[in-house]
Amino acid sequence: MSDTILEARNLVKHFLVNAGVLRPGGTVHAVDGVSLEIRRGETFAIVGESGCGKSTLARLLMRLLTPTSGEVRFDGTPISGIRGSDLRQLRRDLQFIFQDPFSSLNPRLTVGKLIAEPLELHAPELSAAQRRGRVADLLAKVGLMPDHADRYPHEFSGGQRQRIGIARALASGPRLIIGDEPVSALDVSVQAQVINLLGDLGRDLDLTLVIIAHDLAVIRHMSDRVAVMYLGQVVETGPTDAVYDTARHPYTRLLLESIPVAEHGATRRAKPVTGETPSPLNPPSGCRFHPRCLHAQDRCKSEAPVLNDGAHGVACHFWREIAETSPRAVPKPRSSGAQTRFDLYRAATEGETIITRNQQGSSE
Ligand code: SF4
Repeated sequence: MSDTILEARNLVKHFLVNAGVLRPGGTVHAVDGVSLEIRRGETFAIVGESGCGKSTLARLLMRLLTPTSGEVRFDGTPISGIRGSDLRQLRRDLQFIFQDPFSSLNPRLTVGKLIAEPLELHAPELSAAQRRGRVADLLAKVGLMPDHADRYPHEFSGGQRQRIGIARALASGPRLIIGDEPVSALDVSVQAQVINLLGDLGRDLDLTLVIIAHDLAVIRHMSDRVAVMYLGQVVETGPTDAVYDTARHPYTRLLLESIPVAEHGATRRAKPVTGETPSPLNPPSGCRFHPRCLHAQDRCKSEAPVLNDGAHGVACHFWREIAETSPRAVPKPRSSGAQTRFDLYRAATEGETIITRNQQGSSE
């Protein structure tokens, strides 16, 4: 059996936009030639600013969108052509966690019904009593109580709702879960708890996780490998430690320098990410990052760099020169002892006991 569970090959997704009164028409280049290989059992993170195409990519990987060109393979099989029982099996194997725990749960259904829905679809052979038992097990797995099954989503805090969303995703017994910014709508202290939970579940249930995020600090702790996206393309990819400690692409460096770092009791101010992302309606020629890049040269304006092969790939003509002449100015959180704000919250919540709102009277 191959190590690769999910693969994208030269994936492209363009959206046609009709012209409006104040809006030009054209083609949005949401995803433009992305190739990725996700390995069994790993946690793979896809990061980038809003509008970089990462959520579109997640939906293409799930077959929630049809690619303009290119191919997605799950377990070696192209997913675009599968139908019937094979498609139902794919829906069991691939599950999605939505960004917003407030709007992704039907407010009219109890938590028990929300979690039982995928069981009814994918495991119709279960009796009502068996389903109730499975719902109670799933609630326990995500740190909630069996009696929460009788309550409605609005009775829970944001973190608890995301736990319910995770339980629902686990109900079909998936092999791979894609989380589209699963913690970005949550308070940072609750983010750490949900990240811990996802990491634990990934290990305990032997799941492959693909986490979409815009915050590099959040995914450092849970991901094995990372891909950094800019304007529809992957500009750097590799093992998480290598990308964080020896970032090669100027854009990755910019994102890393925007993370606030606590060092020796003081907080180092983060550099803001400067410059605006150009419109995907009209991406720049050559290297798409050149209008914002401090190291851009004439060649960058006309020649698009190719993501090089190898464990730590980068799409930049001059990454070696940049690494030699401009070492990163920001301390490396793991190796130097400096910590991001997220590290501190995470350390404080490791081995946490989950206390629900109804036990504690607080919002988690
Ligand atoms: Fe900057 Fe040029 Fe590298 Fe693009 S190819 S990131 S513009 S140096």
